[in-house]
Amino acid sequence: MSSSDTTGQSGHLQQTPQQQTLALSIDLMRRDSVTPEDKHCQDVLVERLKPLDFNCEFMYFGDKETTAPNFDKNNAEVKNLWARRGTADPVVCFAGHTDVVPTGNVDNWKIPPFEPTVKDGFLWGRGAADMKTGIAAFTVAAENFVKKHPNHNGSIAMLITSDEEGPSINGTVKVVEALEARNEKITYCLVGEPSSTDTLGDIIKNGRRGSLGGILTVTGKQGHVAYPHLAVNPIHALLPALAEFTRTQWDNGNDFFPATSMQISNINGGTGANNVIPETVEVVFNFRFSTETTEKELRAKTHEILDRHFADTEATYDIDWKLSGHPFLTAEGKLVDACKVAIKEVTGIDTTLSTSGGTSDGRFIAPTGAQVVELGVRNATIHQVDERVEIDDIGKLAQIYERMLEELLLD
Ligand SMILES: [Zn+2]
Repeated sequence: MSSSDTTGQSGHLQQTPQQQTLALSIDLMRRDSVTPEDKHCQDVLVERLKPLDFNCEFMYFGDKETTAPNFDKNNAEVKNLWARRGTADPVVCFAGHTDVVPTGNVDNWKIPPFEPTVKDGFLWGRGAADMKTGIAAFTVAAENFVKKHPNHNGSIAMLITSDEEGPSINGTVKVVEALEARNEKITYCLVGEPSSTDTLGDIIKNGRRGSLGGILTVTGKQGHVAYPHLAVNPIHALLPALAEFTRTQWDNGNDFFPATSMQISNINGGTGANNVIPETVEVVFNFRFSTETTEKELRAKTHEILDRHFADTEATYDIDWKLSGHPFLTAEGKLVDACKVAIKEVTGIDTTLSTSGGTSDGRFIAPTGAQVVELGVRNATIHQVDERVEIDDIGKLAQIYERMLEELLLD
């Protein structure tokens, strides 16, 4: 199907939510916005939001690309959009990203990945599930809701970035910092990431585990294995601490999260020779942690164990920490209730709360105190060749989002 079948702007108001969402999805998916590019997707959204009295603000973060040989690609300039209708609380914010992951070998696709195509009941193309149809669905939901209820309570907002699939350093995290700096708060945040597994709405993510990584380097003194008293063996110094790490119960988890786990993924040390005590050994590890523990506590406990075991050795250690995300949890409350009601009414099913899976930008929004939930289309084909989504689902998703706005912003 070509988009001219559905994008007739004059007939826009009479279209069904499915037609509206499909047309906007196709418009966004045609743009090859491989991360961190936006390729004017956000301009398309602004065109739709401005007539609805959204105040639209672009926020640029990162370095403009230069020809300097040491230009850091991870710090390329990123375009973000903060759009808001109204000034009052509560602020219901839809969050999403316009960037997509690379296509891989285009020859392996049944259709060209940036020529969105309707076939066999699916919409095919890169971004079909992750997450241009989600963005289209919440934009259509906002349009339809505002037209019916122009004097709604509170505010509707959208936080859109083009840096979610990449390093995620100049996207949502920076927008949230800018909002915090001027004391602008999000009350309820609906992230339109593809959360559904078998059928639309079967799973919503009300939290995620945190991820904390570390590279531990232990330094001793190189020497001959026959003269250990003249050397300091870093491997021997390390082993008791490593053994204690594997036995430590970091917490017991809770109703929503399994117990925190530390996994050692790499150990590298030695010169290859069997008669040399090496100077250093390196250990790479990662915590996936629950809301029962904080990043600070994990770091402190790790250091406590190491300090205790290193007290009677001449070896020294150093840890290079990297926090990928704090855990967050949105317990039962207004936002989760609104999701449940909307999903039940539109699809007839009872949804399930889950904290499994990888990270999303929800990790940057939740620490501000906002309730955060992820709800979107099925995630069966995300990041894959032949990414696609059921046409039936995208119109229903727009209806679910609109129903949620009614729950949250009407008396
Ligand atoms: Zn995504």
